[in-house]
Amino acid sequence: MPDESIMTSFQSLINNVTRFNIGKKTFLIPEMNKIGVHLLASVFKSYGINAQVIETCKGLDMGQEYTSGKECFPCQITTGDILYFMKKEKALKGTDFHPENYVYFMPEAEGPCRFGMYNKFQRMILDSIPDLKQVKIASITSEDSYSLHGIIDQASVKDLRKTGYFSVVVADILDRLIWRVRPYEVEPGITDAFMERSMLAMKKTFVAYGYSNNYNKILEKLVEIVQEGSSLIDSRILPKPLIGIVGEIYLRSHLQANQNLVKVLENYGAEVVNASIAEWVNYASYNVFLDAKNNLRLNLKQLKFKGLKDYLKKVIVFGCEFYYQEYKQRQAYKQVNKYLDLAEDHSVARLNDILKREDLFSFDIGTEACLSIPGIMECAASGYNGVVNVYPFTCMPSTITSAIIKSRIHKLKMPFLDTPYDTTSQPGREAAIRTFMFQASRHLKKYGRQNKSFH
Ligand code: SF4
Repeated sequence: MPDESIMTSFQSLINNVTRFNIGKKTFLIPEMNKIGVHLLASVFKSYGINAQVIETCKGLDMGQEYTSGKECFPCQITTGDILYFMKKEKALKGTDFHPENYVYFMPEAEGPCRFGMYNKFQRMILDSIPDLKQVKIASITSEDSYSLHGIIDQASVKDLRKTGYFSVVVADILDRLIWRVRPYEVEPGITDAFMERSMLAMKKTFVAYGYSNNYNKILEKLVEIVQEGSSLIDSRILPKPLIGIVGEIYLRSHLQANQNLVKVLENYGAEVVNASIAEWVNYASYNVFLDAKNNLRLNLKQLKFKGLKDYLKKVIVFGCEFYYQEYKQRQAYKQVNKYLDLAEDHSVARLNDILKREDLFSFDIGTEACLSIPGIMECAASGYNGVVNVYPFTCMPSTITSAIIKSRIHKLKMPFLDTPYDTTSQPGREAAIRTFMFQASRHLKKYGRQNKSFH
C-alpha cells in the first residue's frame, strides 16, 4: 500500500496548483522586473481583481531555510517572498487572517528545465505549514502561451491577456528608457527619480484604461514619459560602449538577484540593453504555433485526419496571437522612437532562422537558450560592443548558451562575459566586469557603434 501522506501530497500538487479563479481573492504576484509586475498588477486591478505585488528578498533567509541549495536561485527567492508575505500578513491581521482568501501566482514553462517545478515544490512547502495549507497556487503555462483560461471569468480571458501583454511591452519600453537615459543623465540620480514617478503614473493609466482596452490613451501617456525622459540626456556626453544582456529571464530582470548588474556595468562606463520580457511571451506563442503547424503537417502526411481540426484551430489561434503581439510591440516602439532612439526587439522568427542557418541549437529543444544564443549573434551583427550572459548558478539553459556561444565568440570578435549569480557575492565578479568593460571600450574605439536595433 502506498504511504497515505505521500498520496495526499501528490493529490495536493494536482488539486492545489492549478487554474484557480482569482475573482474574489487576493492575487499575489511575486516581483520579477519591478515595473513589469506593477503594471501587470494594475491591469488585473482594472478588472476589479485585488492584485498585489509581494515584496521581494525580505524573506530570503526563509527561502534558504526551506531549500537545500540545489534549487534554482529564483525558486529560493520566490519561496522566501511568499513565506515572508504570509508571515507578515498573519501578524498584521491576527484572527482575521484567512489563508483561503489568497491565491499566489506562480506560472510555469514546459520543457527540460526546472521552471515547471517551482510551483509544485512551493506547494509542498506551504502544505507543510499548517496555517498555509489553504493558500492556493494559481498557475498558467507556456504550453498554451500563458492563456488566462480558468483563472478569470471566461468573458474577460482574451481582453485581459491582450492588455496584460501590452503592459509587458510598455514596461519593457520604460526599462529601456532608463537604460538609454541614465548613462547620459544631466544630473546624477535624476533618471531613477523620474522613473519612479513615471511608473506610478503608468500604473494609474493602466488601472484607468486597462479594462476598456484603450491602448491609445496608454500609448499617449507612454509617449509623454519618453519625451520627458529624453530631455534628461546631456547631449555633450559621447556615446558609450553598448552592452547587450541575455540570459535567464528572472535573473536578468530582478535587480537584487543580479546584484544590480546594469548599474554596475553603467558605473564602469556602459550603456546597456537588456533582452526584453515580451520576447519570452512572443517566444511562448511562437513555439505553440510552430508545434501546431508541425503536427498538422505530420498528420496530413500520414493521412491521420482525427486530430486535424484541433491542430488547425491551434495554428489559427496561436498564429493570430503571435502576429498580433509582434504587431502591437512594433507599433509601440514606432511611436516612442519618434522621440528617442530606444533599441527595438528581436523578431522571434528571425532568431529561429539564425539558429537554423548556423546549426547551433534548435527551437525543438526549447528553453531560453533558443533566445540567448541567436540574441548574442544579433548583438554582434548590430554593432554592440559586448554581451553579458546573466543567470542563476547551475541554470541549465544559460550553461548551454555559454557552452555553445564560446566556440563562436572568437569569430564574432566581441567581448563576452558569463555572470552566474546566487546568494553569495563573489569577490572576483567586479574585477571581471571591469576587465570586460575595458575590452568593450577598446571594441568601441576600434569598431565604433552601428545601430541599436536588433533587426
Ligand atoms: S531557466 Fe535556469 S534558473 Fe530558470 S528554472 Fe530553468 S534551470 Fe532553473
